[in-house]
Amino acid sequence: MSFTLAIVGRPNVGKSTLFNRLVGKKLALVDDQPGVTRDLREGEARLGDLRFTVIDTAGLEDANDDSLQGRMRRLTERAVDMADICLFMIDARAGVTPTDMIFAEILRKRSAHVILAANKGEGAAADAGVIEAWSLGLGEPIRLSAEHGEGLNDLYTQLMPLADEFAKRAESHAPEVEVDIDLDEEDEDEDNFDARPSLSISPNKPMQIAVVGRPNAGKSTLINKIIGEDRLLTGPEAGITRDAISLRTDWSGTPVRIFDTAGMRKKAKVQDKLEKLSVSDGLRAVKFAEVVVVLLDAAIPFEQQDLRIADLAEREGRAVVVAVNKWDIEDEKQQKLKDLKEAFERLLPQLRGAPLITVSAKTGRGLERLHDAILRAYDVWNRRVSTAQLNRWLAGMLEQHPPPAPQGKRIKLRYMTQAKTRPPGFVVMCSHPDKMPDSYSRYLVNGLREDFEMPGTPIRLTMRGQG
Ligand code: GDP
Ligand code: GDP
Repeated sequence: MSFTLAIVGRPNVGKSTLFNRLVGKKLALVDDQPGVTRDLREGEARLGDLRFTVIDTAGLEDANDDSLQGRMRRLTERAVDMADICLFMIDARAGVTPTDMIFAEILRKRSAHVILAANKGEGAAADAGVIEAWSLGLGEPIRLSAEHGEGLNDLYTQLMPLADEFAKRAESHAPEVEVDIDLDEEDEDEDNFDARPSLSISPNKPMQIAVVGRPNAGKSTLINKIIGEDRLLTGPEAGITRDAISLRTDWSGTPVRIFDTAGMRKKAKVQDKLEKLSVSDGLRAVKFAEVVVVLLDAAIPFEQQDLRIADLAEREGRAVVVAVNKWDIEDEKQQKLKDLKEAFERLLPQLRGAPLITVSAKTGRGLERLHDAILRAYDVWNRRVSTAQLNRWLAGMLEQHPPPAPQGKRIKLRYMTQAKTRPPGFVVMCSHPDKMPDSYSRYLVNGLREDFEMPGTPIRLTMRGQG
């Protein structure tokens, strides 16, 4: 089966209009199906070659005013929890309203995949609203006209890669990638595994941490120590077969889910394929994680493989913490630490400011500091800067160092907003975005990092033309 898309948003933005368009008018009313409440309509949708289930939160119009907020919240939350992907719709002509912001907040907390649509997007009356939509922090808005059928190709473009991903997950019976195994569920039969992704973000969901690094860096030893039980096997032999994939625990009061990349190595039947496999397995763990701990062996730090995976974590937009393990057997600790920091700056400039923590997985030394560094990195990764603050800041930056003027025409930077978090992503509306040199973007990114205290986290900056 494919995926489920929920259309959410306040009343009258055009949800049902889109629902009808996707489902086809004849099939639109299917609310007597078992399991579907009267508040939620469900239908089979087609868009290009995509087939999926669509849910519409249509019952909202009936709500009277006092109960609207509560009902809206409950209904939205239910739809979000039922769906793989949420399409959050606003009315571009009305712009972003306070109610829209409440929705955005729910979705940011609760849904792993949100597509933002600015509907009623036909005509110039919608221009301002489409730009405003960026400030919801949910990424690039699709300019849609459900009534006129415009923008559906953009919707298709955003859905396609997600649909592919869900299809792959559903097909695959390989539990080492898709499935998390809770400690208390360890004995479950493979067939019982829910193939749906475990990424969805809910208020009390544990922080997802991947521990990556070369074979023998001490990943399993570290995870054992954190879990506090001998759940995983460790040994001097690289690539031991392990079954546990992700483990959930409370780490000093923080609910976490830790991905053991070593556990993903069980596919490695041939020893000499190990190096290569552990990189691609690490890669998968990185995709599932929020925070990536790059675990180095103090004796052989910053090997090619370590650098590759750290770079990958940055490119995937994860919060990164570097931990140097086996610190218990280092003699010249002071000098070694200095060397490590130098090497870090030189070899991984893209992770400037990311924490580097020395630990001993074996003795448990340094684990509290690692825990705290992870929390801080996670916090920075989730940071939001208000649009007002950003634009004041931007004005100062422009004054200090005006943007270039290719062919005598100065590029104008008009407006800036944070379009997303996890990691922080910013959008600048400007004239001639294509002519903006990378050096100027870097100037802004470095400034953001310093002035809003976002060390170590990947920061994305997009230049956009208006209109
Ligand atoms: P819902 O309450 O979110 O389900 O909104 P509806 O689908 O019932 O639409 C509310 C109103 O907006 C209706 O009058 C629609 O005809 C109108 N509408 C929906 N989509 C568009 C659009 O793309 N452009 C314009 N101009 N009106 C639209
Ligand atoms: P993995 O392949 O990354 O999971 O590494 P393991 O956890 O299996 O550890 C590989 C070897 O390094 C084992 O022999 C561990 O006992 C040893 N080791 C792990 N952490 C430490 C540490 O902090 N200090 C020392 N001295 N040895 C460690």
